[in-house]
Amino acid sequence: MENNVIVRLENISVSFDGEEVLNDFSLDIHDREFVTLLGPSGCGKTTTLRIIAGFLYPDSGRVLFDGRNISSLPPHKREVNTVFQRYALFPHLNVFDNVAFGLRVKKLPEAEVKQTVSEMIEMVGLKGFENRRVTSMSGGQQQRVAIARALVNSPRVLLLDEPLGALDLKLRKEMQTELKRIQQRTNITFIYVTHDQEEALTMSDTIVVMQGGKIQQIGSPQDIYNEPKNAFVANFIGESNILNGVMHDDYFVEFAGAKFTCVDKGFRQDQEVQVVVRPEDIKLVAPDAGMLNGIVKSTVFKGVHYEMLVEQAGYTWKVHSTASEQPGAQVGMVIGPDEIHIMVKPEDKAGD
Ligand code: ATP
Repeated sequence: MENNVIVRLENISVSFDGEEVLNDFSLDIHDREFVTLLGPSGCGKTTTLRIIAGFLYPDSGRVLFDGRNISSLPPHKREVNTVFQRYALFPHLNVFDNVAFGLRVKKLPEAEVKQTVSEMIEMVGLKGFENRRVTSMSGGQQQRVAIARALVNSPRVLLLDEPLGALDLKLRKEMQTELKRIQQRTNITFIYVTHDQEEALTMSDTIVVMQGGKIQQIGSPQDIYNEPKNAFVANFIGESNILNGVMHDDYFVEFAGAKFTCVDKGFRQDQEVQVVVRPEDIKLVAPDAGMLNGIVKSTVFKGVHYEMLVEQAGYTWKVHSTASEQPGAQVGMVIGPDEIHIMVKPEDKAGD
């Protein structure tokens, strides 16, 4: 299939009890890519995975794998394995036997089973734990066993449905790095589901932002963070200031009562737009040195930075800075051209 596409979802629609969960959903996933489906609860992420795995058949549309229509193929005939949030391990078996299970079902020679299982156990960092009962292991260790058990079948594609959701924050961060490493070492395509934007930004080659059964934006983490296509994506991927503005000319925008140089072009003259400015991209300066002037309403220490709310001409700005200003202080704000992101207004998009 062209461009290395391994999984293609073509015009997939799914309804449950008359409620449309996926609506004419199309997506190409490339071989060896780490793709994350990201969106709020109920947006259709798990449903998408189940369709790829073959646990659910869509009402309409096709699933292609390597260019072949697999829409009616049962799960065990697809070159796909799934890792769930709940590890679903066999409690009465030790680590080795849990991982070996799939290969033994396939009746592979025991010597081959031993070699492959040992390699996978080492890959997930559990060497030395082969004989441990899985019930005596921590959540993070059990998830490693579940990952090894899925990888041992050498799937072309691994589906991961919120696999770190049950782990505490510190462990989750460790496992994020680990999973990325495993994906790079095995060269298997990972399709990962999460509602955690930071997790998606950390691990993915490509992020698919979903809402209400539709794709809002597809892109690299940098694209999605720096150039959100609409207010939903901007808000979902981190905190944002979103204001109405007017694009007077190429590279020239007005918002918050002031005029700014930006890096965007190609809009109609005086087109109404939405402007996104990230809180960490606003520089606080002395009032007379600011492009905008405001009054600090509140200051909260967030660990790495202070979060300040600054009132300016009726708009409350969110500003992140490592230096704090006291509530009541007059401040100036500076926003550079690169820090201003222009979005087409939703009503314009429908009309274009
Ligand atoms: P979460 O992050 O909460 O898991 P999600 O994005 O994975 O959410 P899905 O599990 O795909 O969302 O569900 C999308 C919608 O479809 C939800 O409203 C859910 O209640 C509904 N849904 C999913 N499976 C079924 C089913 N078997 N029967 C009825 N409704 C379902």
